[in-house]
Amino acid sequence: MKEITEPSKTIPVLAETDVLVVGGGPGGLSAALASAREGVNTMLVERYGCMGGVITQTMIGTVAWYRSSMETVDAGGIGCEFEQRAKEMNASLPVYLYEILDTEVFKYIADVMLEEAGVVPLLHCMIVDVIMEGNLVKGVITESKSGRQAILAKRIIDATGDADIAFRAGAPYHMDPKDKLEEVGVNFGCSGVDLDTFLNYILNNPSSISDWGDDSGEKEKDEFSTYLVEPFNKAKEAGEIPKDIRLESYWGYFTDAGEITSMNAIHIPGYDPTDVRDLTSAEIEGRQQVMWAMAALKKYAPGFEKSRLRTIGASVGIRESRKIVGEYNLTGHDVMNQAKFDDSIGICPEFLDGNDIAIMPSTGRFFHVPFGVVLPQKVENLLVAGRSVAGDKVSHAATRQMMCCTVTGQGAGIAAAQSVKNDKAFRELDIKLVQKSLSKQGVRIK
Ligand SMILES: Cc1cc2nc3c(=O)[nH]c(=O)nc-3n(C[C@H](O)[C@H](O)[C@H](O)COP(=O)(O)OP(=O)(O)OC[C@H]3O[C@@H](n4cnc5c(N)ncnc54)[C@H](O)[C@@H]3O)c2cc1C
Repeated sequence: MKEITEPSKTIPVLAETDVLVVGGGPGGLSAALASAREGVNTMLVERYGCMGGVITQTMIGTVAWYRSSMETVDAGGIGCEFEQRAKEMNASLPVYLYEILDTEVFKYIADVMLEEAGVVPLLHCMIVDVIMEGNLVKGVITESKSGRQAILAKRIIDATGDADIAFRAGAPYHMDPKDKLEEVGVNFGCSGVDLDTFLNYILNNPSSISDWGDDSGEKEKDEFSTYLVEPFNKAKEAGEIPKDIRLESYWGYFTDAGEITSMNAIHIPGYDPTDVRDLTSAEIEGRQQVMWAMAALKKYAPGFEKSRLRTIGASVGIRESRKIVGEYNLTGHDVMNQAKFDDSIGICPEFLDGNDIAIMPSTGRFFHVPFGVVLPQKVENLLVAGRSVAGDKVSHAATRQMMCCTVTGQGAGIAAAQSVKNDKAFRELDIKLVQKSLSKQGVRIK
């Protein structure tokens, strides 16, 4: 690749804060809220115009769809607050034991929750580099309409989903080759759906998890799923859309106004989410597939005859990219064998969805999430929350789930705040104090 040398220059310091959280998805929102509630100055920086990450940019509101049985347990905490706040504002759809968030209203809910906690938000601001002193991360370099600036922070939480900050800081990480990563997704929403007709069709043609074709357990086989594939297969058989694309939809939030605001139908393999050219191609290919999917629905899905495409997610959704090498690296064995850790920062149910495995948490089994998965190796002052925490491919199918991202976020947020307050490095923290605060904030630890 051709290269140039960028001249060095002096840049303004935009802000100084105790705790800086980068990335406003479920992981980052939880980290910032937890840190601010511990009473330290906290700033949350997001590259787009709203917080929420995949929830708002890719319109995925099913943060707790795993709650399919009375036996299911979860950590509570900020992830459940998201559901509760949405419910109170009539901005969620109750389904059995969970709430599907109205992802548009969630943009506002996130603003309100941050304001109440005293978090300083910064939108439209991309972090492009880190400021290092030896192996200490002391701040970040930002790019925005205001130009190139710096933010200095005592502690930083990387909740970018792609471990951007850990990567720039030189922390060890791994990322599979792009043909082995989980597919990226372009999500869309429709209006003008005759819901009675559509829901009646679903009632008479129910899908179950076994239809996914994943390596699911025996008990998952008959479990109901909002999986819809017939209309797309009919369009393929009729030669109207290419046969070699994976069109299968999980339909989400719907309203009395005839809207289904989340059709999670487009799954595109083979793209590197850390490569700008690949991201561009994925967006463009995704939009083409949305048009094919829409045409198939109108023709072959009862109730969709007069429907219209209303929205396409503001950004392609990413399921898997860089993962840090942590002080502890979670394994699929841990997730499926109820692993217990003394440094637990929360529990997650035995729920795996991704990388060709589907296990629903209908048995009451759960695992501890250890602090070690948010602690990167070789750099100090930095924690990582959300889907890029440390772990193998199978455990990723658990830790990438939004509720688990809120668990790692809330744990990292409290740890960062206590690290500042007690002037202790992350590796010297008294984890019992972190656990005490987590319990106070409503998180189940054990
Ligand atoms: C199509 C799709 C469907 C899914 N369905 C479900 C589901 O039904 N249930 C479920 O639980 N999970 C689901 N997931 C997985 C889940 O949504 C993600 O794993 C989860 O959102 C990850 O949370 P996060 O906070 O780590 O990252 P994200 O949600 O990706 O948030 C990261 C945030 O950081 C920002 N950011 C990134 N880099 C920078 C930077 N350098 N500077 C500033 N800001 C930056 C981004 O703009 C983004 O807002 C789905 C994922 C996809 C893609």
